[in-house]
Amino acid sequence: MSLIRGWLKQVVPPIAIFLMIDLLLTLVFFSTSSPNVHIGTLRPADAIPPKLGELAVVGAGLGILSTLAYKHIDLSLITLFTAFVVLLDLDHLPSVLGVAQPIRPAHSLAFLGVTLVVLSVVLRNRQPEVGSIFVSSFLGHLAADTGIFALFAPFTFQYFSIDAVRIPLMAGAVAFALLAGYIKNKRRTRIVIPRKVAIIRV
Ligand SMILES: [Zn+2]
Repeated sequence: MSLIRGWLKQVVPPIAIFLMIDLLLTLVFFSTSSPNVHIGTLRPADAIPPKLGELAVVGAGLGILSTLAYKHIDLSLITLFTAFVVLLDLDHLPSVLGVAQPIRPAHSLAFLGVTLVVLSVVLRNRQPEVGSIFVSSFLGHLAADTGIFALFAPFTFQYFSIDAVRIPLMAGAVAFALLAGYIKNKRRTRIVIPRKVAIIRV
């Protein structure tokens, strides 16, 4: 039971923060952008499950890489990577509801910056690795996506393809996944070793 409680404590706050910012930014970009750029529609229904499956594989793969750097099996790491990679697409919500929208509002540097700052500040003591998990997941998702993006929204909704940099994006995702595992390992060492010393002294 305490294992499940520990897992929930590790995964629920970061995912809740991520979802809130994703939805908020989708709403803000939708309401502040010109209807001219509301050209985002949903991919065909039969293409959605394979895409979600592909994203889940990318997220789980990054999570497993991170646990290798952590040097411990850690389900919360794998859960966070998978959730972040898959749930970024929540910004398609208006088109799910049949409303044309700006294409992929959360696939933007603004979302990357705002979410990174909020996660890092709110969880800096409990989960210092969460910023690296998020950056890795964001880069991994972009590397798995095709099509066009407005990376610099809300400053400009000019759309362009990033297909040419998919490999560097995935390399960045792998690097940050390993960094997240490394940070978590360092923190675990700091917490566990002083306790062991205290027990030996008693
Ligand atoms: Zn996407």
